[in-house]
Amino acid sequence: MQLSTQTCPCQINPSSNVISAPLLYSDCCQPYHDGICDKEANEEANEETDKAKGTKADSAERLMRSRYSAFVLVKPEYIVQTTLPAQQKLLDIQAIESWAKETDWAGLEIVAHTPKLGKRHAQVEFKAYFNIPDGLQAHHELSAFVQMKSKANNDARWYFLDSTVEMNISQKQPCICGSGEKFKRCCGVYLG
Ligand SMILES: [Zn+2]
Ligand SMILES: [Zn+2]
Repeated sequence: MQLSTQTCPCQINPSSNVISAPLLYSDCCQPYHDGICDKEANEEANEETDKAKGTKADSAERLMRSRYSAFVLVKPEYIVQTTLPAQQKLLDIQAIESWAKETDWAGLEIVAHTPKLGKRHAQVEFKAYFNIPDGLQAHHELSAFVQMKSKANNDARWYFLDSTVEMNISQKQPCICGSGEKFKRCCGVYLG
């Protein structure tokens, strides 16, 4: 069976017994993935224009869902490209890939979405389910996201703030998201 006609991984929620019509991958996360992952040939291209391409997530929850599906479908490049640009080079794409492959993913539950936190942040609380020999487990996380505007065309895009990445940045420095605010008053609040 073709991937695009299967239920999108982010639509599977093992904690819910509500019968709904789950979206197909082609109607859910695929347009986001294709926008970023089909550009391997363009890797040499200018990064700024590269990021402006593809379908962009219009909310942190949408981005969160597409990132979960990218883990299930082993698209580590999507995980990297949707992380804050200043953190991208610090990510271990090989480790992301092997973790994605080795995990027996079982579904996603969005617990809460706070679409607006201050001027440019949002939070998504979720449970990512996976199976181990002992049974179903959940990875419960509260993730922060930041919306960045491209200087070129005022195009705003959401990015994941990875709090596990070690960054050498002082609290008084301008924020790594380019907002112009001090780090401690901006993304530093969520990267502790
Ligand atoms: Zn999806
Ligand atoms: Zn910031």
